[in-house]
Amino acid sequence: SHSANQIAAGEVVERPASVVKELVENALDAGAKHIDITIEGNGVPLIRVRDDGSGIGVSDLPLAVIRHATSKISQIEDLDHLRTLGFRGEALPSIASVSHLEISSRPAREVVGLSLTLNGGEQVEYKEVGCPVGTSVTVRNLFFNTPARLKFLKSTPTEFGLISDTVGRIALAHPDIAFSLTHPQQVVLQTSGRGDLRETIGAILGHTIARQLIPLKGQHEDWQLEGFISPPDLVRSSRQAQTFMINGRIVRSPFLSRALEEGYHTLVPVKLHPVAVLHLLVPPSDYDVNVHPTKMDVRFKSEQALTPFISRAIYQALITSKP
Ligand code: ADP
Ligand code: MG
Repeated sequence: SHSANQIAAGEVVERPASVVKELVENALDAGAKHIDITIEGNGVPLIRVRDDGSGIGVSDLPLAVIRHATSKISQIEDLDHLRTLGFRGEALPSIASVSHLEISSRPAREVVGLSLTLNGGEQVEYKEVGCPVGTSVTVRNLFFNTPARLKFLKSTPTEFGLISDTVGRIALAHPDIAFSLTHPQQVVLQTSGRGDLRETIGAILGHTIARQLIPLKGQHEDWQLEGFISPPDLVRSSRQAQTFMINGRIVRSPFLSRALEEGYHTLVPVKLHPVAVLHLLVPPSDYDVNVHPTKMDVRFKSEQALTPFISRAIYQALITSKP
C-alpha cells in the first residue's frame, strides 16, 4: 500500500501548489471561517495550513491518512450531487507518503488536541497536544523520497507564484472566509471574510482594479451568472486575471473564457483579455467536472446554448455601465 500511496501521490500531488489546494479544500470542507497558510521557500521546506473548522476526532485522525478509508464515493452513487470538495479520501495519505507530515487537531467538544506525525507515510508519533479548536496540517520536506518529482519543480518565484495564484482563486470563491498567506514572515495575501466580493477582489487583484469593475447579473431559465467584469479599456495580455466558479467550485475553462470574450468582441480587440470573476450557477447535471484529480476541468453538455447566454450577459453589463 506504500507504493500505491506514492503512485497516487503522483496523481494528486503534482507540486507544492497542489498540496496547498488539497489542504485548503479540506479546511473548507471542515467549515472553517479562518484559513491561514504559511509557506517556506518553494513550498518544499514547509507548507502549513491551519483552520478553525470542525477538527478531527480521536478515532478519525489515524483513518484520515489511510488511503480510501474516508472515501465517500461508495456511499454516494451520483458524483454530481457531492456537496463537499473532497471525495476521494486520497489527498492526505498521498501527501503523507511523500513528506514529513504533522496533523494537529481538536474538535470543539475536546479539551486537548491530538497530534499525529508521519514520515513517508509511517507513523512516528501520536500524542496529546494543547491546540486551538480546528486543524493544523504541516507538510515538511515534500518529495524527500521521490527525487524525480523534486527535480521537476521550478524556482521559488514560480512555485510560490502558483501557490499564491491557487490561494487567490480559492479566496475569490469564498468571500465569506478569511484567508491569509504568509511567505517568509510576510503576509502576502489577506482577505477579511466579510462576504463582500468586490472587497475580496480588491485584496487579491488590487483595489484600483476592483474599484473599476462592473457588476454583472444574468439569468436564463435555471442558469444564473454573477460576478464582476472589467470595463473594455481594462484588459490584460493574458487570462491570468480571469477566475471562473461553477456552483462554488473553481474551474479551468477555456470555453468560459471564450464565451466571456465573445461578449467583449464588438468593443475590444479579440486578442486582449478582460479581468473577470464570474460565478455560474447551473444544474449539476449540465456539466462534468473532475476529468483529472488535480485539475478542475469542466465540460458542459450544451456549450451551444451557454455561449450566447454568457456573452449576452457580458455585453448587456458593459452597455448598461456606460456613463
Ligand atoms: P477527502 O477530502 O477526499 O475526504 P483527504 O485525504 O483530503 O480526503 O482527507 C481525509 C479526511 O480527513 C477527510 O475526509 C476529513 O474527514 C479529514 N480531514 C482532513 N483535513 C481536515 C481538516 N482540515 N479538518 C477536518 N477534517 C479534516
Ligand atoms: Mg480532501
